[in-house]
Amino acid sequence: MKEKLPNLILKSLQNVLPKGKKNIGLHEPTFKGKEWQYVKNCIDTGWVSYLGEYVNRFEKEITKFTQVKYAVATVNGTAALHLSLLAIGVKPEDEVLAPAMTFIAPVNAICYCAATPHFVDVSYKTLGVDAEKLSEYLKKNTLIRGGVCFNRKTSRPIRAIIAMHTFGHPVDLDSLLKVCREYKITLIEDAAEALGSYYKGKHVGHWGKLSILSFNGNKIVTTGGGGAVITNNLILARKIKHLSTTAKMPHKWEFYHDQIGYNYRLPNINAALGCAQLEQINRFLKKKRNLAEKYSKIFKDIEGIKVFHEPEFARSNYWLNTLILDKNYISQRDDILKITNQNGIGTRPVWTLMNKLPMFKKCPKMNLSNATDLERRIINLPSSSFLI
Ligand SMILES: *Cc1c(COP(=O)(O)O)cnc(C)c1O
Repeated sequence: MKEKLPNLILKSLQNVLPKGKKNIGLHEPTFKGKEWQYVKNCIDTGWVSYLGEYVNRFEKEITKFTQVKYAVATVNGTAALHLSLLAIGVKPEDEVLAPAMTFIAPVNAICYCAATPHFVDVSYKTLGVDAEKLSEYLKKNTLIRGGVCFNRKTSRPIRAIIAMHTFGHPVDLDSLLKVCREYKITLIEDAAEALGSYYKGKHVGHWGKLSILSFNGNKIVTTGGGGAVITNNLILARKIKHLSTTAKMPHKWEFYHDQIGYNYRLPNINAALGCAQLEQINRFLKKKRNLAEKYSKIFKDIEGIKVFHEPEFARSNYWLNTLILDKNYISQRDDILKITNQNGIGTRPVWTLMNKLPMFKKCPKMNLSNATDLERRIINLPSSSFLI
């Protein structure tokens, strides 16, 4: 008799993953570089907080790695998103577009500005915003007046879009930017999951007016908690830095603030961890690619599933490896999740779609057929770099 799909997947995973480790998480950090040395240095010198050399150094290393000109380190990726929206002038009566299939951070950040999230669909090819579908939707549902895009139904301005690189796979940035330009919508890249991912040979983060990174514990490089805004625009970079440091005017002893600011600066002790982690990113990326290839091989001949592969225009960091269930096997998803997790292998479904969450149910949205379909078919696999 043919073996059942959940058992088959479990066995395949057990074949690939290291034996003897009791619980394997979805994405866990590795600290094998100078983490201890740098963090100890912060403690020994007393520079653990707001000021210190590691924050500046970390920002510089980020710009070196991504080739984006400016980086401002923040307490987390969500704060980086919040600052980005503030910096481009998102206001309470505005709408901001975001994919329905995303981690909640960008949608929360829109709400922190008292703006309204407006959900858009994703593409099967990238799992991120579907530029073609977006273009058709905007054509039918918006009008441009005085250089501003208005939602015909709500009469509110659609100011920006936060496009997320899902599981590290870049969205089709050229196509998306073209749509954004046509409709006067500012592009913000949520590259929280995509440090080390390239679109047509260039690191992500160059297409958005502002882009953000996250250094949460489950990301490819971690500072414990942390994030950054990256941009090629000097004026915006300065504005973000100012907003993230309580809008305090630089002065040796005086405290003067010229507007309401935020305490969103990354502490030095976290940046120290980040400096040590960034030194190892190329090794992490290589290992993660090897793991993705291995998954690809072992699952190739199993009927009912496909391993998600980077789009042809991209080189992905494969932050989270992904299985897509064939339509006829959707009913087995929960059994697959159950049997793997019961055996200590951390697999997960994709996030519940944003439009289904109670606080966002009434938000405007386009037809979300792709996201609604994919929501039932995605399973993420353990993807830590040390697994291989
Ligand atoms: C991790 C993540 C963020 C930022 O999360 P923080 O925990 O605030 O650093 C934002 N967007 C996406 C898609 C993420 O995965």
